[in-house]
Amino acid sequence: MEERYLLDALGSGWISSQGPYLRRLEEEFSARCDVTDTIATSNGTVALHLVLAAAGIGPGDEVIVPALTYVATANAVTYCGARPVLVDVRPDTWCIDPEQVQAAVGPRTRAVIAVDLYGHPADYPMLRKICSRHGLLLVADAAESFGAYLDGRPTGSLADVSTFSFFGNKVITCGEGGCITTSDRALADRMRLLRNQGMDPQRRYWFPMIGFNYRMTNLAAALLCAQLSRADDIIGKREEVIGTYERELVGSSLHRQPVAAAVRRAPWMASFLVGAEGDEVARDRLARALDRLGVETRPFFVPVSALPSYGGDSGAQPVSTDLGRRGINLPTYADLTDSDLKVIVERVQAALATSPRAG
Ligand SMILES: *Cc1c(COP(=O)(O)O)cnc(C)c1O
Repeated sequence: MEERYLLDALGSGWISSQGPYLRRLEEEFSARCDVTDTIATSNGTVALHLVLAAAGIGPGDEVIVPALTYVATANAVTYCGARPVLVDVRPDTWCIDPEQVQAAVGPRTRAVIAVDLYGHPADYPMLRKICSRHGLLLVADAAESFGAYLDGRPTGSLADVSTFSFFGNKVITCGEGGCITTSDRALADRMRLLRNQGMDPQRRYWFPMIGFNYRMTNLAAALLCAQLSRADDIIGKREEVIGTYERELVGSSLHRQPVAAAVRRAPWMASFLVGAEGDEVARDRLARALDRLGVETRPFFVPVSALPSYGGDSGAQPVSTDLGRRGINLPTYADLTDSDLKVIVERVQAALATSPRAG
């Protein structure tokens, strides 16, 4: 289906950033996420920047961000000249801790960006209360949670505005791509303007503001339309992969991702913690053993606060620090076969057996 749509787009001559697949993508994505507007972008990082720029966030402003996330979340704030205020996550959701958010709100705070880490939606009802009380914009970085639900509502509709990534390793992909969902019409209009260099839609080459080129191409949109129509199938297969790991590896020193009762998580990656709280060596030992057995794994993100550009010290975020040291992602693709999975499970069990101190 991807090939058919892509060749159709190519043959139509609409290869750049206008065309029928872009319109269709924005309509279908809005319907799926139960919002009025979708704004397609060239990737998930610029989607975050576009949101903050359209909200007028700039120098002197602060935006509260979880310490445990992909670096793009904090970078988008930095691009605006604003300061990301990094707070800890909760051990039972791996997402931003609303109590820490409340404690971090100050006179310069303008927004909160919650991240649906490893496919699990953040606690939006609590975050909504805090943001309403203080007049803050609530942003969801839903790059990892396409297909998730909270209280029966889909990600994309859980915050004032949400961003997605369609990078190659995300649940659905077009190679490089992203989008923003919102039901705030005025904000959506501002984002569309800024996405297209700030050009007045009624007057060509008239730029009332300084914008960006953050557009998606119709070719990428064609790929994504195909992925979107197969999305439930892709999600189902990824859920089976993760379910198999969780079933087969139960009782080992791997601990599965906690999932809140009201949540249906998105099957982004098979994420586990290795060893007991505070263990600083078991994860790396397991990763090395698996590497020797030919199984590629990914460690969790390093807390942003531990990175040199953001201070280099995550001591004030102990939960993020611990999860960053213990977390591992096992291979997660929709097309892993049962026999692939069997081999991986056996090798994980073998690797765990050779690292006996993982408790
Ligand atoms: C992937 C990801 C992004 C960035 O998306 P790109 O499309 O790679 O720019 C942002 N935030 C989180 C949490 C991500 O996982």
